[in-house]
Amino acid sequence: MDKIVDILKRHGFGFDKRLGQNFLTDGNLLRAIVADAGVTQDDAVLEIGAGAGTLTRALAERAGRVVAMEIDRSLKPVLADTLADCPNAQVVFEDARTTSDARLRELVGDRFKVVANLPYYITTPMIMRFVEGDMRPESMSVMVQKEVADRLAAREGSSDYGAITASVAQSCDVSITRYVPRSMFTPPPNVDSCVVKFDFVERMPRDEERAVRAIIAAAFAMRRKTLVNNLAAAGYPKERVLAALSQMELRADVRGEALSPTQFAQLKNLLSV
Ligand code: SAM
Repeated sequence: MDKIVDILKRHGFGFDKRLGQNFLTDGNLLRAIVADAGVTQDDAVLEIGAGAGTLTRALAERAGRVVAMEIDRSLKPVLADTLADCPNAQVVFEDARTTSDARLRELVGDRFKVVANLPYYITTPMIMRFVEGDMRPESMSVMVQKEVADRLAAREGSSDYGAITASVAQSCDVSITRYVPRSMFTPPPNVDSCVVKFDFVERMPRDEERAVRAIIAAAFAMRRKTLVNNLAAAGYPKERVLAALSQMELRADVRGEALSPTQFAQLKNLLSV
């Protein structure tokens, strides 16, 4: 096949920065990302942001089938070209931010994996959609800015640890599988990136997960405040919170960032009895 940049040029394609169009072209890197994601012939894979179809192609080589969403219709002729010999790859020109669960189910079914080089401007909403929503993939391997990856995989007590870390950990084991320098993208963005893998785990029923996440959101509302004051401000009775912390052998003036994801789940159990 011609080089991707030549194909893009031939179709008169112009990169749109606002859509996070930083494409991957290195075949070895693309195959490694797909291998890290653990994709097999048994899998239906949802990709968000097909771009020029380079990752879509690498996925199609390994997966049973791939459904790639793409918002930019000007990529249609490019993708018709680059994916012409990939019968198990389907591109839908839709906005991944507004696609309903019902539509996603129609496209990929109930058992699917997400693999994507995410457009940076929708990173967090896309991740949280799958972490918190009803359409839960088996795993999700996504390219994100290195700073976001560090936050997602942070340990409690570190400066990167925050509400998103503790919240995501309630339903996922999170790991950084690959560091990708900015020079690997066309055009290169201003930041380096990492691929983060989320392996979904059913640790508790969904309503309990939501209750733990509500506590986490309250705990990190004001970073300078103690956990007790943050939870009291959100309406949790102060005496109950203090009693729970004492049972967990935590100091009364502990801050939210000192609690591990597991401790937040324990705290929820103590506060709900
Ligand atoms: N997968 C390709 C690759 O790895 O080279 C392209 C990745 S590029 C970082 C992100 C892609 O997502 C772009 O092609 C962009 O047009 C597309 N995109 C941006 N916003 C989108 C949205 N809301 N829904 C679907 N696709 C979107």
